[in-house]
Amino acid sequence: MIQLYQPLNFMGMVYREIKQAVIDIEKMFSVLSRHPEIKDVPGATPLIVTSGNVRFDDVQFAYDPERPILKGLSFEVPAGKTVAIVGPSGAGKSTISRLLFRLYDVSSGRIMIDGQDIRQVTQASLRASIGMVPQDTVLFNDTIRYNIRYGRWDATDAEVEEAARLAQIDPFIRMSPKGYETQVGERGLKLSGGEKQRVAIARTVLKAPPILVLDEATSALDSHTEHEIQEALERVSRNRTSLVIAHRLSTIVGADEIIVLDQGKIAERGTHAVLLASGGLYASMWNRQREAQEARERLARIADDN
Ligand code: ATP
Repeated sequence: MIQLYQPLNFMGMVYREIKQAVIDIEKMFSVLSRHPEIKDVPGATPLIVTSGNVRFDDVQFAYDPERPILKGLSFEVPAGKTVAIVGPSGAGKSTISRLLFRLYDVSSGRIMIDGQDIRQVTQASLRASIGMVPQDTVLFNDTIRYNIRYGRWDATDAEVEEAARLAQIDPFIRMSPKGYETQVGERGLKLSGGEKQRVAIARTVLKAPPILVLDEATSALDSHTEHEIQEALERVSRNRTSLVIAHRLSTIVGADEIIVLDQGKIAERGTHAVLLASGGLYASMWNRQREAQEARERLARIADDN
């Protein structure tokens, strides 16, 4: 028996190591293959985050030189505050988050974190300081516990569960047949967009970065899920510098500043109340989204009644 057990055990270990390597390689290629031109400058030093102040200084950017996307963007996310970027589809919102993570370099202008130009620091230190909750979260064909622990491999089980509680996904996990050991992915539990995003939030809680970038999923959510995500976000972003790329305006009403981007330029900026009162682009987006949400809820009620 022992003769059989040892090779099997060894194969299991090798399998786990290979799987880990595959994930790391995937992660590496997802960054490297797309943007080989991004390199550390000779003598780059690690980013030193003191308070977590983020500043965009007259940033211009184009994926294709013929077609400018960001046309001289200046704004600041003061340390510990939340700034939301909203605007029509294609305005350049997600591009802002990609530039801050330095997946691309700005065409002109600069992005500073605590007074350091992000092109002058090591990419590893930059990315370690920023927690990115992307639009589409990649889940691995493994347990839900493994998927959350991806935020920080040395996290204990208790830390993983605490992160899930903060991200408001813990009750959902506990309802699953095997709790945290439930398999997710193709042959396991399928998670909705909102649930996946909460897994990403839980990962970020474990990583505990000083700067948070949330690129909200475009898909419409029911108001209950939306409320849960909003609450999770508020908890995670408390006392952290947060940049939220928002598609649903209802998730960012409490932001310290809302920047309305239109065709790569800032069209309006202010708090929710100020922007609503001014009756401009933000106010019309808000009214449209509210009507759409009300219509969705009416349909859901009719479906429930039948
Ligand atoms: P949405 O609300 O639809 O997500 P957005 O405001 O976030 O839109 P971005 O994703 O920043 O918009 O894209 C801005 C523009 O840049 C779009 O016109 C898009 O087609 C273009 N774009 C985005 N990524 C690339 C890329 N890798 N190469 C070339 N063009 C791109």
